[in-house]
Amino acid sequence: MALSRLAREFAAEINNHDWSDAPFRADRAGHLRDDDPNRGSQQLDRRQTDVVRMNVMWVTAQVLGHADPNFDPYEYAEACGVNTRTPSGRPRSGIITAGLRFDQKTGKYDRPGGPPAWDDDEDESEGPVDRRPDQVGTAEQRARDIWPDPRTPGFVTPRSRNVHRTTDCVKYAHAVSIARRRGRTVHEPVWTTTGQAQTAGKGICSHCWAA
Ligand SMILES: [Zn+2]
Repeated sequence: MALSRLAREFAAEINNHDWSDAPFRADRAGHLRDDDPNRGSQQLDRRQTDVVRMNVMWVTAQVLGHADPNFDPYEYAEACGVNTRTPSGRPRSGIITAGLRFDQKTGKYDRPGGPPAWDDDEDESEGPVDRRPDQVGTAEQRARDIWPDPRTPGFVTPRSRNVHRTTDCVKYAHAVSIARRRGRTVHEPVWTTTGQAQTAGKGICSHCWAA
């Protein structure tokens, strides 16, 4: 399967660029140290340069693969100048696809930028990547019979599953730290009442309102 024109052109640019001094200078695309009388003395070694090129290949491959169902990551990596062989020289090293994110159910490329932001992610039982559908609260959470008086102050966020009583809540703090670690947007708390939050489909935080 031939690469798309966009993939070919990304690969050509990535392959043409001298990544060996990428951290040390801002320069036009595709500069070559050998032709440059102003080159600095700082330079990555061969292995470091290969890692930079591979990371550039991966982040662009994630976008290209998400856009094109026929995208071939091995053909693309080779075109970028990335070695796709295993250390013992066999073709199609698994490291190439290991650097890409796929949906475990469909096998398709995950969306660029990662899953949608969840800043109130209390349930880590599904593993490090949250693939739950975009909804607020589970039926179980909404039905839980621990709702206080509906005028009780609490806060929600645009993406939160639950309403909390206080930002000191350990579950909320945990969710925020996970969101930060995963580079997701952390939304500001929006103060409301538990009654309004329930109407909006939020669950009730079992920690803030523990029986
Ligand atoms: Zn809470």
